Amino acid sequence: MPFRLPASRINWTNSSFLIGTFVVTCTAVPAYLWFYGLDLFQVLLFLVFFIATGLSITLGYHRLFSHVAFKASWPVRLGTLIFGAAAFENSAMHWVSDHRRHHKHVDGELDPYDISQGFWYAHMGWILFKLDAEPPLDNIQDLRKDRLFMWQDRFYVPVAVGVSFVLPALLGYWHGGGPGALGGLLLAGVARVTLVQHMTFFINSLCHTIGSQPYSDKCSARDSWIMAIFTFGEGYHNYHHEFQHDYRNAVKWWQWDPTKWTIWTLAKLGMVHDLRQVPEEKVLLSQLTDTRRRLSVRLACPKIGANARLRELLQASDAKLHELGERWTALKTQYAGKADALKAQYAEKADALKTQYAEKAGAMRAEYAGRATAQFDEAKAALAEMRREVRQALRLLERAASAA
Ligand SMILES: [Zn+2]
Ligand SMILES: [Zn+2]
Repeated sequence: MPFRLPASRINWTNSSFLIGTFVVTCTAVPAYLWFYGLDLFQVLLFLVFFIATGLSITLGYHRLFSHVAFKASWPVRLGTLIFGAAAFENSAMHWVSDHRRHHKHVDGELDPYDISQGFWYAHMGWILFKLDAEPPLDNIQDLRKDRLFMWQDRFYVPVAVGVSFVLPALLGYWHGGGPGALGGLLLAGVARVTLVQHMTFFINSLCHTIGSQPYSDKCSARDSWIMAIFTFGEGYHNYHHEFQHDYRNAVKWWQWDPTKWTIWTLAKLGMVHDLRQVPEEKVLLSQLTDTRRRLSVRLACPKIGANARLRELLQASDAKLHELGERWTALKTQYAGKADALKAQYAEKADALKTQYAEKAGAMRAEYAGRATAQFDEAKAALAEMRREVRQALRLLERAASAA
């Protein structure tokens, strides 16, 4: 259903900010570049802020807080919360709540950025307008015990303004005085905010519109390597919707997923842990199932049906895929059976060993006890003998003394 809303429902704060930053980026930024040019410091400042805030959204807001795809130490949580705020995409609490609802009700009425209401609604329309009363924040209970997460929600506005605009302006001033401050504010501040925001919005709009569906067609989410380049690896959105708790969005080594690489590196540095990863066979099985589904759709097409050779080819590949699927399931059952048998066997062995050791231990205990008793008896006998010998010696001595 196309998106239609009365003007009375405009969210003025969000709309002014989104449109304002976009307009400044398209006007004041080129004017600044025209008058002052671009130096290396400003380029580096822009890149640092772009990567820090972009990654804080994909790695922090999305994969860590929304999906709990891994666990992170406090410096990682604090860093992503501070720079995540500087992306001006609301506090992590609201972002996570929206995103969890997106996954739960994807393409449905309760999906906050429902693509079925149109491309622009999913992209930014949902932010510009107020639909109904704010949905309840009832799906983030697990994060309420994280004090940093709660702190960021409370101080979201000062943190966002401070890190997003004041900090780059101050750094620009430190390097190049007044023009430097203006450059920092416009480039690493406003232009960077606009870019990071639209990068995130594209995940909700383009990643539900263009690309392939290699894992599932249950929802509109799609995999697109082009989108992955612009979104720190989030473009593999079909995989992500199928396996949302995986810390990876791209599973192939050659696919572009800098967010995954950063998480992996942080894990090697001991700053994050418990990375969740879907077993490879599960990924392969869903790929296999989806390929079969696509083939059967093509087989049903009358044009292909008319082309005997193509139909034969498709049928042959479908039969092959069917066979592979069957073999896969059989292998899985067999392995599961084997694993169960092995588990039972090991459990039996472990029990046997336990009984054996218990028996052995009992015997040993008895043996030691016996040995100890024997030794005790021996010692007792030896003492009695000694006592007898001492008494005898005493008697001899006494006798000798009285004779003297
Ligand atoms: Zn999505
Ligand atoms: Zn997600």
